[in-house]
Amino acid sequence: MTFHRYDEPEVIEEGLRLGEDDEFTYECWPQMYNDRLVLRSKKDPYTYEYGWCFPKQLGVAVAAALAVWNPETQDEPVGWHKRAVQNIRRAPRRDEDPAYNRERCVHGSYMDAYCTVDLHCPRDRARMTEDFDELLRRNSLGGGLTEEQKRAEAERQQRAEWIREIRELHLLLEHTPAQLRRIAEIVEALEGDAAAREHWERAARAGNRDAKDYLTVVNEEAAEKEEERG
Ligand SMILES: [Zn+2]
Repeated sequence: MTFHRYDEPEVIEEGLRLGEDDEFTYECWPQMYNDRLVLRSKKDPYTYEYGWCFPKQLGVAVAAALAVWNPETQDEPVGWHKRAVQNIRRAPRRDEDPAYNRERCVHGSYMDAYCTVDLHCPRDRARMTEDFDELLRRNSLGGGLTEEQKRAEAERQQRAEWIREIRELHLLLEHTPAQLRRIAEIVEALEGDAAAREHWERAARAGNRDAKDYLTVVNEEAAEKEEERG
């Protein structure tokens, strides 16, 4: 099997076609509540054998996942929170990357790590307790903390680890200020002013002139309305 990621995605009825291998095309389908990465059979284009649901964000998560995934040696992509079908994919040369190909829970987290979707997700409890106790032990060296504070600190550290990983994935697709402005425009057109606000702010922080001007106008208008009411 040879996987080929297109330089230029192809627009199709369901969304975008991003790549292919001998058997499947790799497609991003925007859905109502998520973006879906789908491996669609070339022989029977009306079925898809594998699929994963990602957070809905204009396909950015799907594109980032596909950018770092090697389907030839790695079973499933990273960053999804639900499989769209029951099938669990196995890469043809999975033996070459055993660390990556550890078992995952239904939310896509490794069974020997913490589930990023459901804290009560069934998994290897013994191993989790061990990790957590180790964090608690390290924190207790500081002394003077109550059990509750130590526990909170351990939880904070776990969370920081997830955030580092998610951030890394996100940064793999870092945008230029002009691209951020374009994203803000598109989100505004698709989802309205409120949803677009954070994207305009990101573009402004990155130094995009139009975004800065836009926010100045919006803020002035809001201040005027406030004055009229006051
Ligand atoms: Zn889980």
